[in-house]
Amino acid sequence: MKVFIEEVSVRSEKPVDILDITEEISSVVRRSGVRSGVAVVFTKHTTAAVAINENESRLKQDVLSVLQKLVPKGAGYKHDEIDDNAHAHIQAMLLGASESIPINDSRLQLGTWQRVFFVELDGPRPRRLLVQVMGEE
Ligand code: ZN
Repeated sequence: MKVFIEEVSVRSEKPVDILDITEEISSVVRRSGVRSGVAVVFTKHTTAAVAINENESRLKQDVLSVLQKLVPKGAGYKHDEIDDNAHAHIQAMLLGASESIPINDSRLQLGTWQRVFFVELDGPRPRRLLVQVMGEE
């Protein structure tokens, strides 16, 4: 079994943003040489998330709007006493820090409408993702 790890840099341009990183992840899979296995896409940040869904601009606005309604900024959180971004931490916990995607024939086995997203919740700032690819060459 081969294990391949690569870091991917992401640059968010807005305070909250949903960035399609599918092509970057696919190119890591190609470089890994793994034909059959799994890719784990993981963010090491506490105010960002990784998610899979459809890259449709109104849907992305809806998702960000729902997150803001569920966990509005400045709603009396204790963490805001020291850092002023509790909402972003809580939103990130709801979405999760990673996704695992099956690989077959050296390709991510995503559905027709599925894309891999990096979700910025406290930007803009430079961010890093880890992609670990494991499987048979
Ligand atoms: Zn914080």
